[in-house]
Amino acid sequence: MDASAIRQQWFRDVIKSWATSVSLDSGKFKRVFTACVIDSDALHARPGGGQDHTKLRFADMQAVFTAMSRIRRTTDDELASRSWRQHSFGCFLEIVDFGRKTDMLPGMPGSFDPDKTMVLPPEETTEDAAGRAVPEPVIAQLDAHLALMGAAFSYGEMARADIELMMQTAYLVLRDTGRRPIEVASLSLKCLETRGDENTLVWDNVKKRRYGRKLPITRETATVIRNWQARRRQTEVPSRSRKQLFPSITDRSGFAHMDTSSLANALREWVAAIPVLLSDELDVQGRRMPFDRTLIFPYAFRHAYAQRHADAGVPVDVLRELMDHRSIVTTMSYYQVSLKRKREAITTLRKHTVDRSGRPAPFTSPTDYEAQSVAVPFGNCREPSNVKAGGKACAIRFQCAGCGFYRPDPSYLPAIEEHVNDLRADRETARAMDADDFVVRNLGDQITAFTNVADTMRERLSSLPRDEREEIKEASAVLRKVRATRDHKLLPLTVIRKETPDAS
Ligand code: SF4
Repeated sequence: MDASAIRQQWFRDVIKSWATSVSLDSGKFKRVFTACVIDSDALHARPGGGQDHTKLRFADMQAVFTAMSRIRRTTDDELASRSWRQHSFGCFLEIVDFGRKTDMLPGMPGSFDPDKTMVLPPEETTEDAAGRAVPEPVIAQLDAHLALMGAAFSYGEMARADIELMMQTAYLVLRDTGRRPIEVASLSLKCLETRGDENTLVWDNVKKRRYGRKLPITRETATVIRNWQARRRQTEVPSRSRKQLFPSITDRSGFAHMDTSSLANALREWVAAIPVLLSDELDVQGRRMPFDRTLIFPYAFRHAYAQRHADAGVPVDVLRELMDHRSIVTTMSYYQVSLKRKREAITTLRKHTVDRSGRPAPFTSPTDYEAQSVAVPFGNCREPSNVKAGGKACAIRFQCAGCGFYRPDPSYLPAIEEHVNDLRADRETARAMDADDFVVRNLGDQITAFTNVADTMRERLSSLPRDEREEIKEASAVLRKVRATRDHKLLPLTVIRKETPDAS
């Protein structure tokens, strides 16, 4: 270790003396020394270079703290962890304190001291950061081997067929609801509420202690849960697990419900038993490469759930509620699209834009797409005053399917389909209200026009080669994500509001 890297003699002397008085292993010493070099550089940049310890002031201490708070890792240039940075600053203070106590720093002013503001703010939790989602094509391969889940897994005295159904249910709930593994493992036996066609999962946000949360789920997921509930009621389980959907292994287990490690182990065994799992990446010969199985773990299905919704263009505030995130910043990470990817997506989709009759009406360039149109709920709009107003000044109340300025592309297909369903529901309501014929007729005309646009786009897509269809699908997901974070009219999506006061 080259002590000359420390630029101030007084600092070098104190460090040497301090290092002999404490027991440090070589790894720890290296970390402390690195921190000291950064401190030394920060002082060196101050007037006088920090050479005379009697002239150091509060501003010098601030300079050291600032340098510490900006330390980056040499490996990837990312900001070092908060604990590392805070610890490094602590080492500097410890060394200075040692110098004072041992009279090695006579005359060092009392103003060269930290104040209570010199504490780094807590880091945002990155647990839910995007990027670790199991890709959808891999999930499809897992689903194709669902029968193997739990097939070789032991679970106390439970019968083989029951273990299989229980673990398969747990996986499907993880996949379809995006709850954390502990939230799935600890579901109550009565976690399902059904009202008419609507199914709701009642779950506890164990991490944030927000209990009795409600999440809308599909009929298929509800059926999966119901099937296991029926079997579970006939299955002998430890007495303390009577109220749990997924019981513990024995009465002596740590929890009344299934341990998350059991879920993780069952998942790992299942994934290992699947003969082939391929990623979408190609090797040099153009063959799909094997998927890294270590990337499949229970929490990764929560990421997949969030990414699936972001890719579908679910508005960010809706996804935030679905994920029960406290901060929208966490949810936003699933919507990150680089400018380059956005530009590529527009380059792809601008060629597949149609007019209100479904006839091709491509934009001449990506710039034309971005500058001459604005995204409205069911497509792009080319009406100049509306473009200027950012899509908020439609003179005919967004009856786009009947408008000459309407230019949808395939990324709007889900929104159009959703809108047609809403219009149908509105028409039924209008009829039930004995509304005048012109109201019902208008709704009917809109349904016909939007259906025509969607059908024509779908037909055209189906006639394209598979590669091109895939490219359009990916580009559509990118643009939907971009739009979902903007402030435009939200598409109707059902989120069940919290009934209990939010602790946040
Ligand atoms: S109705 Fe016409 S002007 Fe209004 S938003 Fe739709 S496309 Fe634009």
